[in-house]
Amino acid sequence: MVMMRLLLVCLLPFTACALDLGLPTDNDALRRGDNEAFYQPTVEGSIESGMFGCARRGGHRFHEGIDVRCLHRDKRGEPLDEVRAVADGAVAFVNAKPGLSNYGRYILLAHRWDGVEVYTLYAHLAEVAAELKLGQAVAKGQRIGTLGHSTNTKEGIPRERAHLHFEVDFLFNTNFHIWYPKRDPKAPPFGNFNGLNLYGIDPAALLLATGPNPKLNFAEYVARQTVAFTVLLPPKPFPWLKLHPEQIQPVHNDAAIVAYEIGVTAWGVPIAVWPRSEAGKRLPSVARVDEAELARNGCRTLVQRDKHGWTLSQHGHEWLEILTYTP
Ligand SMILES: [Zn+2]
Repeated sequence: MVMMRLLLVCLLPFTACALDLGLPTDNDALRRGDNEAFYQPTVEGSIESGMFGCARRGGHRFHEGIDVRCLHRDKRGEPLDEVRAVADGAVAFVNAKPGLSNYGRYILLAHRWDGVEVYTLYAHLAEVAAELKLGQAVAKGQRIGTLGHSTNTKEGIPRERAHLHFEVDFLFNTNFHIWYPKRDPKAPPFGNFNGLNLYGIDPAALLLATGPNPKLNFAEYVARQTVAFTVLLPPKPFPWLKLHPEQIQPVHNDAAIVAYEIGVTAWGVPIAVWPRSEAGKRLPSVARVDEAELARNGCRTLVQRDKHGWTLSQHGHEWLEILTYTP
């Protein structure tokens, strides 16, 4: 009963419930500060190439998750590491056909942390636990699969570099399953749970910020991420506003809302929405930019500077279309 009450309180937005995440495999080197032992580098070889962010090709290529090194292998060198849910949640999606995705075989779990809808993604698996069904509840620490090297890319992932690709994501648009097949008739049957509709934050930073001790509130954690740029949008409802009501900032006067200004990380995750009663610009438009943050982490190039100032890049327009599409 006490547990039940605690659970209900934790579902309310902005209540103080410490988020205590487990690690997705036996590899705990991250929390011991041993990055060499934790991250699996790409063929580039640098430890950074296994990290989240502008970590690849000299900082020019974005990596949306972390690559966790394999610890246990059988005689043939095939990985054996158990992959586990980092928190209580429910099975949102399983892709059991590795040939359909560069994630290979993957599983997505849905969570609600301090009122915030969020997903964890576990990719390149050798196997997904057979008993798992869509919608099924999973407990923190429960085995959900085995680490592997599955992918559909031409070059593949060699057995020696088998790893868990792990993401902490936000689902962008509940209409993605309508938008994407129109654009790509050969779209894989992933519905809304296509990687293109999932935008992440740094899982390693989050795993380090939680751990056994700190009283981390996830809604506040997300709100503390750095805003790299803001975009002014027409005041038309779009799914994100329903998915993340916790981000909508209060309005202090009765003036009509003429735009939404969204604050976005360099990686493309909105972290705040301000209803605006003045816009004064053509919508959508880039309103504010943190040039230092973009210089550090701007490899996703959602915004660019041209002779008109800062604008959305072609990639940025596509990002915005995925975020705001309503049929
Ligand atoms: Zn990866």
